Amino acid sequence: MPSADIKVEYALSWAMAMKDTVRFVGELMEVSARTAPKAAGEDFIEVALLSDSERVALGNDMIRIGKERGTYGFERDGQNVLDSDAVVLIGLLPHKGVGLNCGACGYGTCKEFNEKSSSGDFKGPNCVVRALDLGIALGSAAKQAGEFNIDNRIMYRIGVAARRLGLGQANMSHGIPLSATGKNIFFDRQKK
Ligand code: SF4
Repeated sequence: MPSADIKVEYALSWAMAMKDTVRFVGELMEVSARTAPKAAGEDFIEVALLSDSERVALGNDMIRIGKERGTYGFERDGQNVLDSDAVVLIGLLPHKGVGLNCGACGYGTCKEFNEKSSSGDFKGPNCVVRALDLGIALGSAAKQAGEFNIDNRIMYRIGVAARRLGLGQANMSHGIPLSATGKNIFFDRQKK
């Protein structure tokens, strides 16, 4: 019969191996976001598999934002980030309009769009066609995680904290936390 020490050692080494596996899938997700199709073949997508210290700082800042704003969602998602094995951050870098003059951004021409600037949780305005690039990249990365049965969830709030912490140069970003446990931690979450 294995001793308690051996059982603990086995559980720890299994958890470390699992974390390495999850991080490897995170690297594959970076590839998926990088190769996702982009308008006019121009790449304004920023992708990063965060280091563990960045992930912890991110989760703690999300909880801090929740307390500052009095919104439980940030605290709940921040705890998810702290409980996850890794986070992939995907954002849209500063860019000009694609040049279609399509009007979808609320400006008649890309030239008008290019002259505007705004700032809130994220920097704007952003070309809608480029925002679609971001959505496609996020979807491609999440799909890759799903292919390997790694639990994940695309989170707006990760992008808010990432911008506050200066993680990356993106105008706006979303994050995908990853986890591999017997129960998906990103769903059926406790309501306050
Ligand atoms: S969304 Fe705006 S900036 Fe983008 S292509 Fe259309 S008009 Fe140009």
